[in-house]
Amino acid sequence: MPELVAGPGWVALFPEALFLEALFLIGRYGRFMDVLVIGAGVSGLTTGIRLAEAGLDVTIRTAAPPEQTTSVAAGAVWGLVRVGPQDRVVPWGRIGLEVLTGLAAEPGTGVRMASGQEVSRAPLEPPYWTELVPDLRLCEPSELPAGFAGGWHYTAPTITMPVYLGYLQARFAEAGGTLELARVGSLADLAGEAPVVVNCSGVAAHDLVPDPEVVPVRGQVVIAANPGIEEFFISRDEAPPWIFYMFPHGEQILLGGTNQVGDWDLEPKSDIAERIVAGCAAIDPRLHGVKILAHRVGLRPTRPQVRLESEPLGGGVLWHNYGHGGAGISLSWGCAAEIAAAVLG
Ligand SMILES: Cc1cc2nc3c(=O)[nH]c(=O)nc-3n(C[C@H](O)[C@H](O)[C@H](O)COP(=O)(O)OP(=O)(O)OC[C@H]3O[C@@H](n4cnc5c(N)ncnc54)[C@H](O)[C@@H]3O)c2cc1C
Repeated sequence: MPELVAGPGWVALFPEALFLEALFLIGRYGRFMDVLVIGAGVSGLTTGIRLAEAGLDVTIRTAAPPEQTTSVAAGAVWGLVRVGPQDRVVPWGRIGLEVLTGLAAEPGTGVRMASGQEVSRAPLEPPYWTELVPDLRLCEPSELPAGFAGGWHYTAPTITMPVYLGYLQARFAEAGGTLELARVGSLADLAGEAPVVVNCSGVAAHDLVPDPEVVPVRGQVVIAANPGIEEFFISRDEAPPWIFYMFPHGEQILLGGTNQVGDWDLEPKSDIAERIVAGCAAIDPRLHGVKILAHRVGLRPTRPQVRLESEPLGGGVLWHNYGHGGAGISLSWGCAAEIAAAVLG
């Protein structure tokens, strides 16, 4: 059994105390668990999977189900956007790229390899993380939509988030994990409930920790019937709060979007949706008059640096795993691997 599962130090000295500790916890909380994860977005689910598949008894406690998280609103494509620090996100991102590429070969995961381009109206160099993408090349001028000055083309895992979150949830359950719908009012109150607690609360860490460095960057997107677009497209022009992108997902296409810094509003706005569709249709005329199917809003949990570190909590340990900005899907497997390595020893 991993050392941390033994609880406070005196338990290690007196093994019979472990039994009494377990009885105490079962009496207080109904059941014994090795790890309690807060949050069922992509960070909480992947962390829960890694620990449950290693044989630990893991419970995820979440205020909202996976289909009502920020994670479900993502585009999504692998990439290290609005996130830092570079020296930590590159190794996490490399793991994410490997794992997601593997999942793209499995049916039913919601992940597939897709090609597309990122373009800009002003000259722009590919960002540092594109070095991890094997087939990156600069676009020929003839490939660019009208009005764009340059861009790059590559293949990467793209993820249909509602399907992917369903896959992750099923995989967690298959590994023996338990998912509870309940809001955590205070991290301090969790002391003693499990030897390891992992805080994957996304943007809600702003109030839960509390951590004022966590700032929401609101992203609104439109789900439409796909008129036949096969490649993803991202305009990287700096035009806050607007960004235009398109992610085809079979018969549907996700159109974006916004980068609204500090905006906590989860309600889709019809004027913003109209502007998103008009902006995308101006780039790809096949989107004129497209049938709108749904609207989604997510709050990117931005922070100057991802917070992946531990601190004591009662006799156990509290891991923080939040602040993944615009890259949480891409980083989740790498962050989960780092926590699993520390917890499992
Ligand atoms: C429009 C948009 C496009 C994006 N595109 C991409 C992309 O292409 N690629 C990419 O990698 N990333 C992308 N992102 C970023 C990515 O979606 C996020 O970084 C990621 O979803 C964060 O996941 P998370 O699990 O940390 O947080 P969340 O998904 O927000 O999950 C947080 C969880 O914590 C729970 N919770 C919060 N407070 C409490 C509490 N008090 N008690 C119990 N539970 C609580 C919530 O209910 C939820 O289950 C995009 C984001 C948006 C909005």
